Formats: sequence, structure tokens, C-alpha cells
Amino acid sequence: MTGATNMLVIVLDALREDAVGASLEEPGRCVRAETCVATAPWTLPSCTSLLTGVDAGVHRHFWHSGDLAVPGLVEALPRGMRKVGLVNNTVLQPSSQLDAGFDKWRYFADHARPFERAASLIRRARRRTPLFLLLHSNISHDYYKPSGGVYFDEAFPDNAGGACTLGGRVIRWNRTTPEQRAAVVETYRASARKVVACAREVLELARARDDFVSVVLSDHGEGLDYDDARVHHGGRLHDDLLRVPLYFDLPSGTPARQSADLAARLASAPVATTDVLPTLFALAGVDPVPHVDGRRMDTAPGERTVVSEDRRYLYLKDRFRLNVRGRDTHMSPEDREQNQRLQEQLAGPPLVRSYRSSRAKLIMTCLHLRPTAGPPSEARRGLVEFGERLLGSPTLALYGDHLVAFEWYDLGADPGEHDNLLAGAGAGVRALAQSEWAPSVTVPVDGRAGGAEMDLTTFLEGAEAVSSP
Ligand SMILES: [Zn+2]
Repeated sequence: MTGATNMLVIVLDALREDAVGASLEEPGRCVRAETCVATAPWTLPSCTSLLTGVDAGVHRHFWHSGDLAVPGLVEALPRGMRKVGLVNNTVLQPSSQLDAGFDKWRYFADHARPFERAASLIRRARRRTPLFLLLHSNISHDYYKPSGGVYFDEAFPDNAGGACTLGGRVIRWNRTTPEQRAAVVETYRASARKVVACAREVLELARARDDFVSVVLSDHGEGLDYDDARVHHGGRLHDDLLRVPLYFDLPSGTPARQSADLAARLASAPVATTDVLPTLFALAGVDPVPHVDGRRMDTAPGERTVVSEDRRYLYLKDRFRLNVRGRDTHMSPEDREQNQRLQEQLAGPPLVRSYRSSRAKLIMTCLHLRPTAGPPSEARRGLVEFGERLLGSPTLALYGDHLVAFEWYDLGADPGEHDNLLAGAGAGVRALAQSEWAPSVTVPVDGRAGGAEMDLTTFLEGAEAVSSP
């Protein structure tokens, strides 16, 4: 006996928070988070944060190359538990190193097989050997593939054949008409509906046994807004990517106080995807819960600012997505050439980081230009030109050969994140220096990998402000 109960973690890849509906909920058993924030906007770093409890800016696992420097939380589970991972995204194959600590880790190309395997494992779970089961599905992620058309016809039989699957156009939605773009959104919704239905079937098996603590979440959302250049995922940190669904499903034996505290916390303050496993472990009776960046939601009180980050991708205004040291998947020859050219201008990968509280978000985009033989004015012009290609209307600050672009959004008044509070009458970096962010934000301008960052106030004192374009 380990003292712990069975755990089921269902990760529905690229499922937006607003695409779930009410169908996973079950009164008295199920608690839903009002705001759960992913720590990264795409699969590898976000799933790494989920499985390690460590923030993306700390684990920096944005590439398959190099060692993952932080241990997986499953390694802290008691001996005698069986730990199985069933994954459905090629990014999560063993080269991701996320299989560490699992007894079994299987990748399936097929969408149905992970659910079938999970159902079988749940049915066969025995009290003597509790199960930790990670079930990952790519159904909603793959709406741009032919399977999206199948799910569309299932969801909308009266409009069969009306799907639009983007295939290799998914990064930029290029060469699409407004009608096709509307059909893309419906194809995504149909795929989301399918994956939620599959998840519910498995969840109901675990519910019926009443000896599983279950959690359903997503690793990030998906951009469906062509006109705002917010499409696909990675490379930006708007809420369509960062806000993810999160549901805990508790067995009837859960102490009433613990489930009430969890429900109160989930209703009142943002939580992060790094918090999910520490909380699940606590609910399942694992003791002690490892100490990581993520915090237990069933005890932690109060407000929280979640820090999210990407260092691999950067979306620009024209829906071009810079992909640093990638395999150029789904990129046209012209985009590959542009990708190469932009990387040659940079001294290192770009960094996009957000600080998100319940009411506001600060987004910071940092670029470090490679030194050139030309005069400083040339470097300055290169940075400003780069800044003008960034999404939104960021406020630009220059610091040597670094460019840092800031956006600050009031999520209560402007949930769509369209009005940068620093632009125009916000008076740019002066307003930022006096803002609530000044004490807690640091800026990576020294260029040392893993090195210390400069505090925001010192950075702003030394930086040259450039008026917003
Ligand atoms: Zn993903």
C-alpha cells in the first residue's frame, strides 16, 4: 500500500478555454477553475511545466536538444505506483525527455488508441498498485489536418463537407477567403467538441469507480482570429493561448474542507498549469508534495501573478512566425528564407514573457541584435524596424543592442487585449516605471544564458524610449 489513490491527468492539446462548454462538469464532484494560465503557449514547454511544476523561464525546455535540467514530478510519487503516459503529439515522443520517471510511455499517431488504452487501464486498476495515468490527445490540435473534416461532418451532419482544413497553411492562414476562415473556426469547434466527448467517456469510467482523483486541462489554446493576426499558437502570449480549461474531479471520499478550499481558490484567483500536479498529489494523499514553482491550490490563499514565456517562436504583425532552430515545418520557401534572415540578425532567440494577474497583464518582447560592423545608428535603426513589425502597438525601449517592447492590458475593461495602456496618453515607459509591475518584473538585457536579469526600474532609467509606432 502506498497510501495514495489513483490519479488521472487528461491533457487536451490546444483546447481553448471557451471551447469546452459545460459537458465535463458534474455537480458535487467537479470543480472548474475560473482562470487557469498556461506557462507557455505551445506543447513542449507547456507540458514540461505541467510535468515538472517548474516555470517555462526556469526549465527553458523549448527545444528537444540539450538535457532537461529539472526532474519530473512523477519521480516523487511513492514506490509501488504504476505510472503510465499515453501521448498523441509527436513533440511528446521520448526525445522530449518527458517520459522520465514513467514506467511506460507510449506515443500513438492515431487519435482513438490513447483513449482505448486509457479506458482499459482504468478498468484494470487495482488498489494494491495505484495508477498515475497521463492521457494526452491531439484531436483539437489537429483541426487543420484531414481528421478535422471527419469531426466537422460528425458535428454538423447537415453541412457535411463544409469543413476547411488548413494543412500546411496553419501558421499564417495564408491564401484563405473570409468564408474559408469562418469554416476553419467551425472545424476547430467540431474537433474541440469531439475531444471533449472522448475525454468525458474516460472520465466517466474513473468517476464510476470513485477511487480516482482526475484532472482535465489543456496545454495552451489556439488563435482563431485572422484579422488581429492571432492565429495558431506559440510566439505570443494573449489569453486565447494562455487561458486554458482546468477541471478537477474528486472522489466522494475527499474531505469536504479540502474540496471547499479548492473550489474557493479556483473561483477567486488565477492558477497556473504548474500548480496542477502539486494539487493533484495533495488531493490523492501523496505526502510530502514536492516543493516547486507551482503551488497547491487547495491551501494557497490569495492573489497570484503567473509568469509565462516563449523563447522559440515569435509572431509578427503579418502573421509571420519566427521559429528559432526549428525544422521549418509548414513554412513556405519564402518564409524559410525570411526565418533564416531574421535569425542571422539576432544574437540569440527572442524572448516573449508575460506577467498575468487576475486584472492585468504585462507582455514584454525582448530582442538582442547581433553586433554588426556598422555604426551604432545602423543597429538602432535595425532594432526600431524590428519593433515596428511586432504585434499590437508595443511601447519600445532601447538598451544598447537590445530592444524591449512592452504592452500592458487591463483585462477587466479590455479582455481582448487591444488597448496597450502604455501607448498614447499612457506616456510609455514613464507610466511603466510608476506601475504596479515595477517591483516584480526583471528584464533579460545582459545576454548571459541563465544569468541574472536587470530589475525593471534600473532598466528603464538606462533605456531610451522610442514612441510607439
Ligand atoms: Zn500543445
